[in-house]
Amino acid sequence: MVKVKSKFSANDALTPNQLNHLIENAKDETDKFILTVLGRCGLRSGELLHMRRSWVHVDDDESKIRGNNYIEIPIQVNWWCRCEECQIQKFISVHLMRYKKKYKTKHANSEWFLKVQKKFYKLKKGMKIYTEQELMKYIKEHKLKQDIKELKKEKKKWYERWYIKKNIEFYKLKSLPELKRKWEPKSTAGAGKVPVDDETSIILKAFFEIHKSLGMKRRTLYNRVAKYGLKILPDKNIYPHMLRATRATILANSGMFTSVDLKTNLRWANISVADSYVQPDVTRMFDAFKKLNKKE
Ligand SMILES: [Zn+2]
Repeated sequence: MVKVKSKFSANDALTPNQLNHLIENAKDETDKFILTVLGRCGLRSGELLHMRRSWVHVDDDESKIRGNNYIEIPIQVNWWCRCEECQIQKFISVHLMRYKKKYKTKHANSEWFLKVQKKFYKLKKGMKIYTEQELMKYIKEHKLKQDIKELKKEKKKWYERWYIKKNIEFYKLKSLPELKRKWEPKSTAGAGKVPVDDETSIILKAFFEIHKSLGMKRRTLYNRVAKYGLKILPDKNIYPHMLRATRATILANSGMFTSVDLKTNLRWANISVADSYVQPDVTRMFDAFKKLNKKE
């Protein structure tokens, strides 16, 4: 069977039963955590990858004030991140600054972004960080006559020369400011509070009692979700964003969330996204009108 990823992840959303089946079968604690955060909390994969213990408010003073446990996605974090996603964002922002200055413009088109992204991956390919052992091995292999001790002293110089020879591009990348950044959500709307149920609270608490964060690359996360999905729901193509879409669908179908509630919960920048989830409901609109009318 050919499984195709839809253009809109909403079309790939699972039914509540399928989602439960997926989560309940997870024997591995990490799998369970990943699927819960994506499918029951609706977080984006970037948010899941950067999630820290401090984001989780389970049975603490803050959650008591809100009257419910919740996850808080912050506007910005106070630590530096060097994951691939953060590196590429930093790389783009540096290039964008230069581009804007050079061409006296405020915007760059998507073609430009793709070009810069391509450049990043091309440079990154040559950006292997060599360990001291690897360096010594290289020296020995090349039967270099210098005394090893002397070389160790001179290591830095050798190291650099080696790099120049091996990969000039590395220096181009190095000449940029350090590729680290303080992680930020997708947009300002991306920050916010996501209430969680009791079962989810237990899973979150248990995970962060042992781990500081998920500590996983984006690609590893995708592969892990896909591999697990294939085992449990073989006729479905499981990927992180469709689990978020599943969450949105479940909330929308409950009939208890307005488009604005959905936008707030899933932290969309535009309310128009809700259109793919919420169907016009005349009965609901009449009920709301009657309720208001009684109050007036
Ligand atoms: Zn990062």
